[in-house]
Amino acid sequence: MKTSDDISQSLDFSCPACGLLCDDVALVSTSPISIKNGCAKSVSFFEQAYSATSVRTASVAGKPTDLNSAIQVAAKILLSSKQPLFAGLGTELTGMRAVMSLAQKTGATLDHMHSEGAVRNTLTLQNSGWQNTTLTEVKNRATLILAIGTDIVSSHPRFFEKLVWNANSMFDKPSPEIIYLGVPAENTKAGISPDGKQPMVVEAEMEKLPEIMNALHALLNSKNPLQKKPVIEQIGGVPIASLLTILEKLKAAQYAVVVWAAGNFKYAHAELTIQSITQLIAKYNEASRIAGLPLNAGDGDLSVNNASTWLSGFPTRNRFTNGKVEYDAYYFSSEQQLKSCDALLWLSTFNAHIPPAGNVPTIVIGHPNMQFERVPDVFIPVGIPGIDHIGAMARMDNVVSMPLKKVRESTLPTLSHVITQINDSLT
Ligand code: SF4
Repeated sequence: MKTSDDISQSLDFSCPACGLLCDDVALVSTSPISIKNGCAKSVSFFEQAYSATSVRTASVAGKPTDLNSAIQVAAKILLSSKQPLFAGLGTELTGMRAVMSLAQKTGATLDHMHSEGAVRNTLTLQNSGWQNTTLTEVKNRATLILAIGTDIVSSHPRFFEKLVWNANSMFDKPSPEIIYLGVPAENTKAGISPDGKQPMVVEAEMEKLPEIMNALHALLNSKNPLQKKPVIEQIGGVPIASLLTILEKLKAAQYAVVVWAAGNFKYAHAELTIQSITQLIAKYNEASRIAGLPLNAGDGDLSVNNASTWLSGFPTRNRFTNGKVEYDAYYFSSEQQLKSCDALLWLSTFNAHIPPAGNVPTIVIGHPNMQFERVPDVFIPVGIPGIDHIGAMARMDNVVSMPLKKVRESTLPTLSHVITQINDSLT
């Protein structure tokens, strides 16, 4: 029989720790964690998965119990609920399919833990569409990358290593020029090319990005007198000259890619900033080639929203009511629903994210390393997708689903198994 280390060391697998889903990683050792082709984020992810403090037994009101008893109590809570909230939703495609079935049966509202950012992209897409690209296109064609409000590597650490400074693109193209807008200079080291070429860095406060993007539009469309006769020298703390340079570089690029992370835009109506970005892209595409690349936040956000859309017609922040599906990007947020729901089912299998504070009966199904501030009514530790069991996840460019492999033997059940058992117990 194979031991966990036998399995680990014989496999290259897809790392589920961020949306890049790098498929060239393998565990070299588990004590300490060492990963072939891994980054600091992947090591931290596996350290948590292999933590000695992991709980492997289900509990009811903090007292250990067997899995079936915990499932029965969870089913009872959902049966008594008139308006449950299923939140967190940190899972992959198979898990989300099971969750959708349970939501339909219980009339639940669904909201992913990273919806606040995702909704900003959704609102933009609903309003005016967008022209986005894929990781393969970035790797093979990009000649310029403009990162707005994100250093990219904080959330997707191997982005530059795999897609920008790679020496094996399909076409003979120069390494991309890098521009950071609204990123602190100290966070831009990943944008220095292997031969030492420095990126262009235009620092700005995140909250100033809306007016900076508006200024870029005005300058691009030449309808603003600023361009012909500048009456001010800067907007949002950024020199007009720097904005004009960015526009010139975008115009001159053979294939420019604009990258943003919606979750970083933490101010009111941030979807308008994203819309400004997508409109800039559309304008340039009239005469040249440019595309967008939104970064996802993680914890299965794209997979969950895809599965939700396939099965209900809407991404999360949707609700099943008498067999019909409703969608409300504001009212169905966890923050709003926690004011009125009468039960919370919190799911987080990739990371040990704990549920938000509240007084409603709470069922938690997820990462075995969760440490609670308030003991939930039911806690069922389950396997981590891509480590304890197989699965599938949508990559950050949303064009392929990557298979997740099983890396170690585990006695923990899968989320989909537990959810299906709860569903079957609802009579
Ligand atoms: S970049 Fe992302 S997917 Fe790749 S190894 Fe690091 S955390 Fe994992």
